[in-house]
Amino acid sequence: MSYITALTKNKQEWTPQFIKSIDEELCIGCGRCFKVCAHDVLAFEELDEDDSAKMFMKIENDGNCIGCQACGRTCSKKCFTFEPVSL
Ligand code: SF4
Ligand code: SF4
Repeated sequence: MSYITALTKNKQEWTPQFIKSIDEELCIGCGRCFKVCAHDVLAFEELDEDDSAKMFMKIENDGNCIGCQACGRTCSKKCFTFEPVSL
């Protein structure tokens, strides 16, 4: 199977790993991933739990992702999974 590939500035080929999912059970809503993503992929979501509300991150604009994995590197809870996309 062949995947979407990209080039670095010095023309080295690499395979982007695109966002696949965020584990909302692990997410603490810290927003670090939101701050680091420059492509408007992520959004906060509020989840009502009995008498309190929990914030967590969700994928809002899946198709905007460039596969850089910056969000995953900044997440201390390891919420993210990524995958290459086939052509
Ligand atoms: S992989 Fe990059 S572009 Fe995609 S959601 Fe994460 S930070 Fe944004
Ligand atoms: S960095 Fe991780 S824990 Fe923090 S909001 Fe993003 S997914 Fe949730």
